Amino acid sequence: MYLGQIVEEGPAEAVFADPRHPYTRALLASVPGEGGAAPLEGDVPSPIAPPAACRFHTRCPLAQPVCRTADPALAPAGGDAAHRSACHFRDSLPPLERRRHDAAGERLRRLQRFFIPANLDTPSPGDAA
Ligand code: SF4
Repeated sequence: MYLGQIVEEGPAEAVFADPRHPYTRALLASVPGEGGAAPLEGDVPSPIAPPAACRFHTRCPLAQPVCRTADPALAPAGGDAAHRSACHFRDSLPPLERRRHDAAGERLRRLQRFFIPANLDTPSPGDAA
């Protein structure tokens, strides 16, 4: 979600393995411990008056003229109807930097496993006995 708008959704494994929105890619790349966060230039715009067309265009490293004039629909990406992205270039993004991305994905998957309902009954290390 960026500025109150869903920019990518789908099965967690699909999103982590093959993110189809530049903002998702930036979030995954910003997981600490993998050589520093991927920089996102610029300030976060006001959610009260978000940029026209693609809300991410003022910070997106891949923005093109169409991004400033047309709002991309949240639509299937990579041939998967359940994996949707709101980017004009969802099916033509450049390849990921795999090593960094895979390490970030594994960290996020560990976090996800910790918070799934099956683990809610498992006491945390700081819980009182
Ligand atoms: S539509 Fe354009 S500005 Fe928006 S995320 Fe995609 S490439 Fe970036």
